[in-house]
Amino acid sequence: MVKKTVRDIDLKEKKVLVRCDFNVPMDENKNITDNTRIVAALPTIKYLLEQNCKIVLCSHLGRPKGEFKKEFSLEPVAKELSRLLEKEVIMAKDVIGEDAKQKAKNLKNGEIMLLENVRFHREETDNDPEFSKQLAQFGEIFVNDAFGTAHRAHSSTEGVAHFLPAVSGFLIEKELKFLGESLENPARPFVAILGGSKVSDKIGVIDSLLEKVDTLLIGGGMAYTFFKAQGYNVGNSLCEEDKCELALDLMKKAKEKNVKFLLPVDNRIGKEFSNDTEMKTVKSTEIPDGWEGLDIGEETIKLYSEELKKAKTIVWNGPLGVFELDNFAIGTNEIAKALGNIDAIKIIGGGDSAAAVEKAGVAEKMTHISTGGGASLEFLEGKKLPGIEALEELKK
Ligand code: AMP
Repeated sequence: MVKKTVRDIDLKEKKVLVRCDFNVPMDENKNITDNTRIVAALPTIKYLLEQNCKIVLCSHLGRPKGEFKKEFSLEPVAKELSRLLEKEVIMAKDVIGEDAKQKAKNLKNGEIMLLENVRFHREETDNDPEFSKQLAQFGEIFVNDAFGTAHRAHSSTEGVAHFLPAVSGFLIEKELKFLGESLENPARPFVAILGGSKVSDKIGVIDSLLEKVDTLLIGGGMAYTFFKAQGYNVGNSLCEEDKCELALDLMKKAKEKNVKFLLPVDNRIGKEFSNDTEMKTVKSTEIPDGWEGLDIGEETIKLYSEELKKAKTIVWNGPLGVFELDNFAIGTNEIAKALGNIDAIKIIGGGDSAAAVEKAGVAEKMTHISTGGGASLEFLEGKKLPGIEALEELKK
């Protein structure tokens, strides 16, 4: 289903409420440590400026749990946005209070203001219709460009769309194009790499990808549940014993669907969950008691890199080891580097894998890096994202 974008609606000189994802990381002094999400919102904001709109931006930041808390203020975001746009961004002191209302009333065409953190109101995450209605007063049109929160049915992502004509911004359009269209009819072979901690978090996405991919490469903590299911010893590795049955079902489905389903052939294991622990590499069938698998091994890196070289479309979600610990980040880094040298459509599903390609210095070589970890995962699972569902449909 194709959704309307800012291009499909007359926005000239309109007052527009825009939901952005400005949930950026900050250090203890409130300096923004990564402005990627703010930069990602610029194309839509610039387009609205060209249309001479009155622009009211809103976003959440962190989890203030329904209370005004200074440390969750969006003020640093207004400053950074203002620096990037070389233009004043008026900061409201509240969300739906007097200050925001007054500033919105005084807003002129071509001016931008930012409301305070929408999660200062519990009603935001409750998707309270009254709160949504209050937010809707800030625009004649609602533009959703917050892909990172599109999987949440909140007031500023879903609720408000019931009170205003609602369209997507360029960021959501781009995410839908790469995560949706390019994976619907992928260039083949289509290879997916899935990592992360638990198999239980990835069941939906494995199940859905088995319908589409030619090859599925598994890494990370979830591999050990698949090993256990086949009767291997996994020592102290992360393992969900109650998911063994399901792991076997997924492997069976892969066989039925003719999907090449690969598990690590070797693993870097440690005595303890720490960077400086005693470590060694062993075959997947030979993990001793008292050790835990924390990364894929050299042979697996080679095997997976070879599979990736054959691919025309690649999707990657989740680290292949405990990449927060340098000694167990090798698999994740090497796979990221390998992707840098491969000529294919390469889509990175946000979160940790996005950080990994960034760290490996190959981010520029990716076709698309999703700005939404959770949202991209739910999208790949084939779930409907409420923030997108609520947008108007483009009738052909
Ligand atoms: P997820 O949020 O499910 O994508 O999982 C990401 C987390 O998985 C990261 O914090 C990794 O440290 C963790 N992880 C990856 N491989 C392993 C492993 N072998 N054992 C334990 N945790 C792992």
